[in-house]
Amino acid sequence: MKNREIAHLFESQADILEIQDANQFRVNAYRRVARALEELTVDVAGLVESGEITGIPGIGKGTAAAISEYLETGMIGSYEQAKTEIPKGLLELLAISGLGPKTVGLLWRELNIRSLKELKQRLHGEKLLALPGMGEKKVERIQAGIRAYESGAGRMLIGTALSLAEMVRAELQKVPGVTEVGAAGSLRRWKETIGDVDLLVTGGSPETAIEAFTSMPGVREVLASGSTKASVRIEEALQVDLRVVSKNEWGAALMYFTGSKEHNVRLRALARERDLKLNEYGLFRGDKKLSSRTERAVYRKLGMAWVPPELREDRGEIEAALNGTLPRLVEMEDIRGDLHMHSVWSDGGSTIEEVARAARERGYEYVIMSDHSRSLKIANGLSIERLEQQALEIDDVNRRVRGIRVLKGTEADILSDGSVDYPDEVLERLDVVIASIHSGFQQSSDRITGRIISAMENPHVDIIGHPTGRLIGRREAYRVDMERVMKAAAETGTALEINCHDERIDLNDVHARRAAEMGVKLSLGTDSHDVSQMWAITIGVHTARRGWLSPESILNTLTIEALFSALS
Ligand SMILES: [Zn+2]
Ligand SMILES: [Zn+2]
Repeated sequence: MKNREIAHLFESQADILEIQDANQFRVNAYRRVARALEELTVDVAGLVESGEITGIPGIGKGTAAAISEYLETGMIGSYEQAKTEIPKGLLELLAISGLGPKTVGLLWRELNIRSLKELKQRLHGEKLLALPGMGEKKVERIQAGIRAYESGAGRMLIGTALSLAEMVRAELQKVPGVTEVGAAGSLRRWKETIGDVDLLVTGGSPETAIEAFTSMPGVREVLASGSTKASVRIEEALQVDLRVVSKNEWGAALMYFTGSKEHNVRLRALARERDLKLNEYGLFRGDKKLSSRTERAVYRKLGMAWVPPELREDRGEIEAALNGTLPRLVEMEDIRGDLHMHSVWSDGGSTIEEVARAARERGYEYVIMSDHSRSLKIANGLSIERLEQQALEIDDVNRRVRGIRVLKGTEADILSDGSVDYPDEVLERLDVVIASIHSGFQQSSDRITGRIISAMENPHVDIIGHPTGRLIGRREAYRVDMERVMKAAAETGTALEINCHDERIDLNDVHARRAAEMGVKLSLGTDSHDVSQMWAITIGVHTARRGWLSPESILNTLTIEALFSALS
């Protein structure tokens, strides 16, 4: 479905108009179209074909024509035209948290700031500070936004990379003779953000594979195309690199292109110590090839166990693989439930019954309903009365839908004084209590750390949700002292969440590993606001693997009885 892609263009066109200080009604009209497209539950192409598209509120004849233009040609002429009317660098500025189109327009018209570079040069200038609506506080926020943006610049979220790789894989599998298509690079290692998607393919003729790759639908530009490798650009900024390798060298090539660089440097040094040579074609003694066909064979010939890709960061895995002490990492099959879910009761899109059925379909034993608490009004947080009504509905769903248990939970706000947003007698009645911070992100380290710790000291709190609050590429973590939080978590027996949403991944791999070393249990939650997002549990599982976690460290691997006794 191209719904979101097209919605994005209308949103962008609204941004351009707003930067140009256009009439607000026009701006809003474009935004309305974008929202309508995003909320469609059916493919927009079908609606265009049947003519029903103009029946959707906000979509008139002109808009419908633009949408069908996009479906036919892959672009909208008026949008391409609009883009030329403002300096190119301005749209990039919109990606920075703290900068909206109104401010960007102001910076451009009043100070002739046309790019990120120019903005950084003049950020603390008096003229900028004197602009209406500016001020020290706002400038600080923009500066933090720039830092966050630059740390993730040019990289895509892993969720984006996964769906991109899936799409390309499907195209390549259609090529006659192709027997294997595999991800390599940081995607195979499940890093939290991905620069380029690296894929390897084997079987069939290289020319046919390259031809199919460079001409697949969605390719905007072919960046390079040779006899065994090619790079393409998809959409605005997504790069995919493909290499065709011979079947005999599959393992060696996969190792080489999976990386990380640091891991490979260590492997090559190990090979040299043994008078061997390791490269993308195999492991050699002199001219004699010892192995290359599978990764396992290459590692074995190096005298070590096969290293799961998620561990290949030179963080101790080489030594462990040599000594035979690699951990038994958690796997998808170990996971018995999702421990963070929202429903229509707060700001989610799925009913409790839909959540229950989707969880059962995934083979889970349990799933939690953890809607927002009463003080989070913008997310339609539940009053105590509504929480009680929700409990009745959960009982009803548990009676009707067999083979899955819906747990009664909450994602309760940690208030500014560190208390939790429901009284003890309410929390007590719930199966699982997640406590999260949704306000006061700018507080000092002491203050925000203290809030989390006092929430953990509440005996009813079982899990701290998204403990650092970062949004990858958009918002930095709160200034929380994670060492202190982990220590308190160990002392109070509170679990810390690995929030699996691709924009959060919070805790990250490094924190999760440290927490487990300190004896803290981790809890995987997708924070899904719709059942279609529940797949993100795989991101959590692979993040846990990057953190060296075994099933024993993870709440979700417990049977429901064991979970209850762990939580009590
Ligand atoms: Zn939350
Ligand atoms: Zn949530």
